[in-house]
Amino acid sequence: MPAESDDRSDAPPPTPPPTDLLERLVSLGKQRGFFFPSSEIYGGINALYDYGPLGTRLRRNIRNRWWRSIVELRDDIVGIETSIIMNPQVWVASGHVAGFSDPLVDCAGDCRRRWRADHLPAERAARGKEPDAPGCPECGGTLTAPRQFNLMFRTFLGAVEDSSAQVYLRPETAQGMFVDFKSVLNSSRQRIPFGIAQNGKSFRNEISPGNSIFRTREFEMMELEFFCEPGTDDHWFEHWRAERFRWYLEELGVRRPFLRLRDHEKDELAHYAKAATDVEYLYPFGWGELEGIANRTDFDLSAHQRASGVDLSYLDPMTGSSFLPYVIEPSVGVDRIMLTVLIDAFDEEVVRGERRVVLRLHPDVAPVQVAVLPLSKKEELTVPARGLEHRLRPHFATDYDETQSIGRRYRRQDEIGTPYCVTIDFESLEDQQVTVRDRDSTEQTRLPIEDLVPRLLGRFDI
Ligand code: ATP
Repeated sequence: MPAESDDRSDAPPPTPPPTDLLERLVSLGKQRGFFFPSSEIYGGINALYDYGPLGTRLRRNIRNRWWRSIVELRDDIVGIETSIIMNPQVWVASGHVAGFSDPLVDCAGDCRRRWRADHLPAERAARGKEPDAPGCPECGGTLTAPRQFNLMFRTFLGAVEDSSAQVYLRPETAQGMFVDFKSVLNSSRQRIPFGIAQNGKSFRNEISPGNSIFRTREFEMMELEFFCEPGTDDHWFEHWRAERFRWYLEELGVRRPFLRLRDHEKDELAHYAKAATDVEYLYPFGWGELEGIANRTDFDLSAHQRASGVDLSYLDPMTGSSFLPYVIEPSVGVDRIMLTVLIDAFDEEVVRGERRVVLRLHPDVAPVQVAVLPLSKKEELTVPARGLEHRLRPHFATDYDETQSIGRRYRRQDEIGTPYCVTIDFESLEDQQVTVRDRDSTEQTRLPIEDLVPRLLGRFDI
């Protein structure tokens, strides 16, 4: 697995995407079924989203790609699935009950909005104001003093709603992997260094969610806890820092100038972290965290060992020595990756005098990979076109469309990022050939039907 990648570039920073891009994506997302507000017929609910047919496919492809590179293509990482609700002692020991909070301030002026104190400068800047100006970013009103607000959602387990039955919805998937460390170790024949990975829903009662699906209150995380011997942790931190950066460039096709690694300053590090780096993307609202990579040391295992009384140390069978492993953690949200690839792929251009919106999605994550379009609605063409679509279906995510003009159908497929359109025309009935149109170049190639599957497969890594 290549771990080196060029993460430091001397190239000048790119122009950020236009500020209205997010709005346009939200509208495209709703119109084409990528994502829309949850419970919309009841007016929606703040910072919770549903994913439509195309969004669901895109998310699944992103998740599968992560799982494949982290778990399936490696023999030193295993995947697990842990419960969303855990024994509440887990969250006491991990420090979340006492400390998983953000500083909250309220506007006492006209707008009465609630803000995260550490987000105030960015919120002011986003509204064209001086970042360090006093007062509310929205209305300039007086702000209250910051107070800590715990982000964990609470509920009750069982029929009695008292404090002894109180439990939490997990705010991250990581703790499930720490508390299962021994069970996985004992059942999987893994030896240090090795990793445990999982993906699943997490919940945070964010004070200031926003920027569409960038910060929501229910989201899906993909996390890896990589356990290694103390002393080798710096090496593994560097490995994962480089590898995760490479993944975005090569496996999702994110444009290099819009991606950077930002190392945390000492005073910015979480109390449990020895080092941390964010993979950042240049969003329409500025550089923002896409993924976090942290050296969590033995903080979590030692906290759970102390609180549970269970020995979580690792006995090295070769040397006979026993130690608590250090942990390197790359952690990211599926929703945030989805927003990032949509922003990164969005393009508008004029081709032969006609304006088109095109999502230049990486072919391997595109929700539709091959669309079959008969040139006419006559049965003579629609019957073989449907037959062809069925032949392609086991290999690719396909779509079939016979409505409206071929030009409009191409535009529709461009807008959802379909890399290839296959057109059947009357000549196809004679020469058994079809036309394959490339989304990015709009170039058209004539191919024998028999060659279609192998030729297209050669362009994907699926
Ligand atoms: P912040 O300080 O921005 O609130 P954080 O640094 O505490 O977030 P982490 O705990 O490092 O966030 O989260 C790891 C990853 O999970 C993030 O990089 C992001 O991809 C994703 N993530 C975290 N919170 C949210 C959220 N509210 N909505 C969507 N994705 C999220």
